[in-house]
Amino acid sequence: MPLSRVTNDLGGRLRRDEYTGSNRCWACTAVNVALSALVAVVLIPLSGVAAVVALTGALATVYFRGYLVPGTPELTKRYLPSRLLAWFGKQPLTVSREESTDAWLLSQGLLRESSDGDFALDPEFKASLAAVDPPQSPSASLARDILELPPTDGSFTSQQGRYTLSDDGDPIAAWPSSLALDADLRAKAVFSERYTGWNERPPDEIAALLRSVRATVDRCLRCDESTEYEQVTHETCCASVTVERLTCPQCDEPLVELRR
Ligand SMILES: [Zn+2]
Repeated sequence: MPLSRVTNDLGGRLRRDEYTGSNRCWACTAVNVALSALVAVVLIPLSGVAAVVALTGALATVYFRGYLVPGTPELTKRYLPSRLLAWFGKQPLTVSREESTDAWLLSQGLLRESSDGDFALDPEFKASLAAVDPPQSPSASLARDILELPPTDGSFTSQQGRYTLSDDGDPIAAWPSSLALDADLRAKAVFSERYTGWNERPPDEIAALLRSVRATVDRCLRCDESTEYEQVTHETCCASVTVERLTCPQCDEPLVELRR
């Protein structure tokens, strides 16, 4: 049997799809590659050949299985600090609702505060948002238009229905869906008409204000269905992630998504 066939057969038998390919956890991979190297270093004084064989076998196992030590996904979840996990992309961009943006929207009469402390959009403001023409489809020019950026600023990426505009890898703004882009375009259109100098505000301030409006939408601006708040906790291999969402059940898209 040719060697390549043996390698393929072995790879096929070892391969764990839930921990490799796009599911690979880079935190677990890094921990396991470090462990493999440590084992090889310990073996070098005893036998150089054994060290090379052990290192090759260990790295192949990490490559095909995603991990070497059974249970590493659980161990990293328990013991790796979240700040370290964040290096491996385990904690997506946190989008928080800033107090000051709510205060500004309240001062302008665009938000109303109910007796139980909840915010709601002013009905007239909400009607003007609903009257704006919706955007065609998510695009770089739409994202730049929303943030009042020149036509070449930032790079636009889309991944699994989420959209990000980044500057040299640093996110300027992120949207969890096309519905969120739609809502932001509407709010920006109303603001830029209402306030002189709106387009001179820094993009992060514009993004924060638009996000505050979006987080208060009680009826979908696209289809008029009541929006719903949901909280879901799901387990990834390295962390327990709680996601809070404001969604439109009709459009089946989140307006705001918060990960904790
Ligand atoms: Zn909708």
